[in-house]
Amino acid sequence: MRKKSRNIQVDQIQRASTTVPSTRTLDENRTLIFHVDDDSHIAHITNRVLLDVVGYDDSDSIPRWPWFIFLAGAMGCLICSSVSHLFACHSKRFNYFFWRLDYAGISLMIVCSFFAPIYYAFACNPYSRLLYLSSISFAGILVITTLLAPSLSTSRFRSFRASLFLIMGFSGVIPAAHAVVLFRAHPQILVALGYELVMGVLYGVGAGFYMSRVPERWKPGAFDIAGQSHQIFHVFVVAGALAHTAATLIVMDWRQGLPDCGAS
Ligand SMILES: [Zn+2]
Repeated sequence: MRKKSRNIQVDQIQRASTTVPSTRTLDENRTLIFHVDDDSHIAHITNRVLLDVVGYDDSDSIPRWPWFIFLAGAMGCLICSSVSHLFACHSKRFNYFFWRLDYAGISLMIVCSFFAPIYYAFACNPYSRLLYLSSISFAGILVITTLLAPSLSTSRFRSFRASLFLIMGFSGVIPAAHAVVLFRAHPQILVALGYELVMGVLYGVGAGFYMSRVPERWKPGAFDIAGQSHQIFHVFVVAGALAHTAATLIVMDWRQGLPDCGAS
């Protein structure tokens, strides 16, 4: 079984070394079948990796916990935002607390986003992986603690809070550049980085709306119910998370197609 699985992996590496994309399906014996096509890279997030992340395919699978950390972070962020926006009107005291929780939730998702791509990209570079994962965990704890501090929840620190989001998000440039150096011959990594770039742009545009308070500054009162900068900011954060999901699935698919570390 293991040998058969290894043969499949070798086949995948050979295919990964070319720029010809492929999709894969499972036949009735759960054997991988490859189909070459010229569809986009996002379509190549294979059946297998999707089956794997939902827990149906245990054969030769990569660890799934980094992926679940991202999902937990994203769900935690959305829960924090929903609860905050629902109850912030309770009283002035709770208002401050819930807006802090709102920002802390977004930070939680950004931090959790780092785990999966770094874990899978540096699976065979344990020291780099440990360095990046421990750095982002430390930075995340620092940022979330800072955002939860009552003194920083006032509007005076609006730009400071947005800057923290951006610094945390763009700190991913370092492991991304390292991954490009290591895997520049692997087109999947470059495609995944393209999606991460889209994520960075979406986060940046969202933070821009948040800091500039556009459009309500142009017509105060007109966007009190809908269309205000804070709502637009949340929409861009969710869009950024979706771009990151696509990037992570591509990296997982790529890693699963490689042999174990040290195997020739
Ligand atoms: Zn919010």
